[in-house]
Amino acid sequence: MADKILEIKDMKKHFNLGGGQVLKAVDNFSIDIYRGETFGLVGESGCGKSTTGRTIIRLYEPTSGQVIFNGEDVSKLQGKKLKEFNRKMQMVFQDPYASLNPRMTVGNIIAEGIDIHGLCKGEERKKRVNDLLKAVGLNEEHASRFPHEFSGGQRQRIGIARALAIEPEFIIADEPISALDVSVQAQVVNLFKKLQKERGLTYLFIAHDLAMVKHISDRIGVMYLGNLVEVTTAEELYANPLHPYTKSLLSAIPIPDPEVERTRERIILEGDVPSPLDPPSGCPFRTRCPNVMPECALSMPPMKEAAPGHFVSCHLHK
Ligand code: SF4
Repeated sequence: MADKILEIKDMKKHFNLGGGQVLKAVDNFSIDIYRGETFGLVGESGCGKSTTGRTIIRLYEPTSGQVIFNGEDVSKLQGKKLKEFNRKMQMVFQDPYASLNPRMTVGNIIAEGIDIHGLCKGEERKKRVNDLLKAVGLNEEHASRFPHEFSGGQRQRIGIARALAIEPEFIIADEPISALDVSVQAQVVNLFKKLQKERGLTYLFIAHDLAMVKHISDRIGVMYLGNLVEVTTAEELYANPLHPYTKSLLSAIPIPDPEVERTRERIILEGDVPSPLDPPSGCPFRTRCPNVMPECALSMPPMKEAAPGHFVSCHLHK
């Protein structure tokens, strides 16, 4: 049995906006992530995937539910153990420019975590920064420069080096390639893969479309309106999607073969994602689902294992 590094049990994150309004950003989220895998988390913007990442790493307190990392309930960690958790789980952000302090040199940005955690000083610190720059495809001279002197792809490499500086085990990458040119996206994905192999890292890789996570994920979870609606291996999800929402996301991905592309059936969803302030009753996807049935308004479909390792939340699969 593979070793679970992260277990998330019934995690919810609701924001109380006052005046009786509650924004249910994450409403139904349970998942196990195994050591060394890449779990892709996909959904349209506003579906709660970034809030999920931020709640796991405790930038937000969960409203309820449990986050268990390396067998320990993260909410109960204190002192040395909390510091250790803060070191072992790191985040890489979407906008590499906004997340890098423009007044700090790249060397000092990368070494910030090393200094906070008191890992090393002087020559050893310098060597570690230089090694990290090389590991992400940059070089020693870059240490004395400032973030504005770099391209978007290079800045994301700096963000990755900063996350790696304190030797994490788990990285939450929140849309790390969405802001980059298409030509650079594949390079950054390849860098993530290389570093995972070299360092035994586990990733939660968040993206807004399935094409972006295809080449990096071992398993993929699809989110809609704060709820996880389908989870399976990347291969199975592309070959045999079960949830109508996943089918619509997949139908939007162009196919490189012009012959197949011409006859490709696209599922165009009607309407917008409903507001998480006022989600529909029953299945959250029912207002846009091409397969909607009367019972879909009555109850939330439970997550069922429709095939080995393939989980789906839909009344069509009981
Ligand atoms: Fe569509 Fe009903 Fe399945 Fe929801 S439960 S995805 S509305 S068929």
